Amino acid sequence: MVDFQLADEYRELSETVREFADEVVAPVSQKHDEEHSFPYEVVSQMGELGLFGLPFPEDYGGMGGDYFALALALEQLGRVDQSVAITLEAGVSLGAMPVFRFGTEEQKQAWLPDLAAGRALAGFGLTEPEAGSDAGGTKTNARLEETTHGREWVINGSKEFITNSGTDITRFVTVTAVTGVENRPDGTTRKEISTIIVPSGTPGFRAEKPYNKVGWNASDTHPLSFKDARVPEENLLGVRGRGYANFLSILDEGRIAIAALGTGAAQGCVDLSVKYAKERSAFGTNIGKYQAIQFKIARMQVRAHTARLAYYDAAARMLAGKPFKTEAAIAKMVAGEAAMDNARDATQVFGGYGFINEFTVARHYRDSKILEVGEGTTEVQLMLIARELGL
Ligand SMILES: Cc1cc2nc3c(=O)[nH]c(=O)nc-3n(C[C@H](O)[C@H](O)[C@H](O)COP(=O)(O)OP(=O)(O)OC[C@H]3O[C@@H](n4cnc5c(N)ncnc54)[C@H](O)[C@@H]3O)c2cc1C
Repeated sequence: MVDFQLADEYRELSETVREFADEVVAPVSQKHDEEHSFPYEVVSQMGELGLFGLPFPEDYGGMGGDYFALALALEQLGRVDQSVAITLEAGVSLGAMPVFRFGTEEQKQAWLPDLAAGRALAGFGLTEPEAGSDAGGTKTNARLEETTHGREWVINGSKEFITNSGTDITRFVTVTAVTGVENRPDGTTRKEISTIIVPSGTPGFRAEKPYNKVGWNASDTHPLSFKDARVPEENLLGVRGRGYANFLSILDEGRIAIAALGTGAAQGCVDLSVKYAKERSAFGTNIGKYQAIQFKIARMQVRAHTARLAYYDAAARMLAGKPFKTEAAIAKMVAGEAAMDNARDATQVFGGYGFINEFTVARHYRDSKILEVGEGTTEVQLMLIARELGL
């Protein structure tokens, strides 16, 4: 029989993170949002709780869990603070995961223990000023040069919107770069794109001034510049020429994680709206007594529930080793829209207070928009789904 109940270890993890989110994260969310400050103290405690190591084996300092465990944690964090949740999502699924999936044993031993402990963060540098949805249009390039101390990649170019790339604990950024030209069997050529690890502090590599964003104010996002930045040849991550394909597969998984975050945000809006509707009165009774408000909140619950089922399904397929590209794209799209739609409806339930930043629903309203854009826009998800349908 099909059973959609969570197994005990997943349920316990989810409850632990829920408590952590309510007791440790929520009390400082407003301050970090207002100050646009990175929540180092929260990240450090998430590290102690093992959240950054959830899907990695114990050999690399991880918790020996899986990707679904990470998703459950993200849902609980996304409920109260999307900035904190995206810091974890990008830290694990975009920062550390490429090293785990494609790194040599030496690279894994060198980088993963600190990333899995939350003592260090890494960025995922794919997007460029002129290459976002069409990330294959990358212009950043890397050439191999002989030097007196061995062969080095010399990197030139820039990246745009890179999460976790400029914190005090950022250890490196993995970037896609054109490393040559590939001859294809049909006689045509295409860019050879590889991924290279660039440690923070490398001369010529800079995380530029952070963006002034609409939301996710406590998440760290920078443009990056590379001017003759040199790293050893061994910093190539994965097979030369496979960088773009490898990063796209990382994004397939990442969509499950981001869908979980969006589900949490959508659910957070429901929970806050139910509470408020029971407390706020107008025309002599609680606004929750009005069917217009009840239906609005009921519809919000439908969206959150649907988003949860969609990411559970995509994660279950992934863990079972089945194809999950389409389901991950569906989950990402459904959850992103659920978060945005619920945030808009929640602010309506809150009336004027919904427009005041100190109310969590107002923060969700500003934070949720990016869920329809980051890690592939809604249009990109539709392109992937249509392609899988053979269109
Ligand atoms: C806060 C934040 C954090 C981010 N973190 C990271 C990160 O850590 N690493 C990273 O590499 N990137 C990151 N990004 C970048 C993000 O993934 C891109 O912004 C996103 O993929 C869209 O790319 P773009 O901004 O260049 O938009 P564009 O690709 O220029 O798209 C503009 C519009 O055109 C639409 N469009 C494009 N092509 C088509 C098409 N064929 N058919 C229909 N519509 C189309 C898009 O859907 C969109 O609506 C981040 C962005 C933000 C804002």
